[in-house]
Amino acid sequence: MQKNIVILGSTGSIGRNTLDVIRSASDEYNIVGLAAGNNAGLLAEQAREFRPKLVAIQNSEKAGELENALGGLGITVLAGETGVIDAAALPEADLIVAAMVGFAGLRPTIAALSAGKRVALANKETLVAGGSLVEPYLRDGTIVPIDSEHSALAQCLLGADGSDIKRLILTASGGAFRDYAPADIYNATPKQALNHPNWDMGAKITIDSATLMNKGLEVIEAHWLFNTPYDNLDVMIHPQSVVHSMVEFEDGSIIAQLGPPDMRIPIQFALGYPKRVKANYDAEPFSLLDVARLDFSEPDVEKYPAFGLALAAGREGGTKPAVLNAANEAAVNLFLKERIPFGAIAEVVEATLAVADNEEANEETIFRADEWARRKADEIAAKYIK
Ligand code: MG
Repeated sequence: MQKNIVILGSTGSIGRNTLDVIRSASDEYNIVGLAAGNNAGLLAEQAREFRPKLVAIQNSEKAGELENALGGLGITVLAGETGVIDAAALPEADLIVAAMVGFAGLRPTIAALSAGKRVALANKETLVAGGSLVEPYLRDGTIVPIDSEHSALAQCLLGADGSDIKRLILTASGGAFRDYAPADIYNATPKQALNHPNWDMGAKITIDSATLMNKGLEVIEAHWLFNTPYDNLDVMIHPQSVVHSMVEFEDGSIIAQLGPPDMRIPIQFALGYPKRVKANYDAEPFSLLDVARLDFSEPDVEKYPAFGLALAAGREGGTKPAVLNAANEAAVNLFLKERIPFGAIAEVVEATLAVADNEEANEETIFRADEWARRKADEIAAKYIK
């Protein structure tokens, strides 16, 4: 039987890779819904190819364009956040791929989970800001991670009972500036920061990789996904991006998951879970003989202040991770528009965290903290704006 799939964020990098996997395993999967933020043109093109029951566009102003492009095909067009939420809870769907960027993915992901759907989760901000809201769904395979490190950990943990785990080790490529001297990073341009050495990804996550914020967010993500205390979560810089993460067990064994840096591999695992389903997409041949060596080192916390801020916010808990995430989204946005220097991203996040109250996390406080922190970060960033 085919699995019926909805993709939230179908026009982004993860969404397009997911469609690539599904296109090459069409006996296994059937697209019933597609949702995107803004890109009505590409969404319409995807809908003409995959013929879902419905499409949703978050930006309501683009709904007319989408309707015109899909006229006569019998595809329902929904708009706005409510449209995306309806797509996330579509009765026919077996699996929701949550691949929206940022905090905007939280409400639709919760909608999918409360409708009883399995979620293949690429939207790490959902867990960073709203971990406590989705915690009830985390222990029974309802959420399968797409993030490559967490997919690796989930694969290494197959068969583990939890009590035998010593620590989880997330690997990090080191991002665009791993070979730069710290003094050369502060005024780096978006073009430099977007030039990731190993992975081809969306803009927001590529900037987060350059600051190493991404790895801090991923530690928080792993804390929730695998119910692991922060003391048992480690990060190693691994420039080859071949070992996607590792689990060290109490008996001294370390199990790692290896492969090429291609997001379609963790996507395949999440779509097929608990089975491994082979998709026949075009892939570059990969051999460890070509890689030849694997290096590991400790992250330089002085070079990457955002990483330390994320770890501290994660340990503090409450609404602090939501504040961290929102301030980071706001600062990255300003950096991409060339309004603030690269080095100011971490400074804005730090200054926002410093004046933020910490509250017990619930739906109300998390959404309030997110809104407050975006405003505060913009206010703090004003002093950098040229
Ligand atoms: Mg990752």
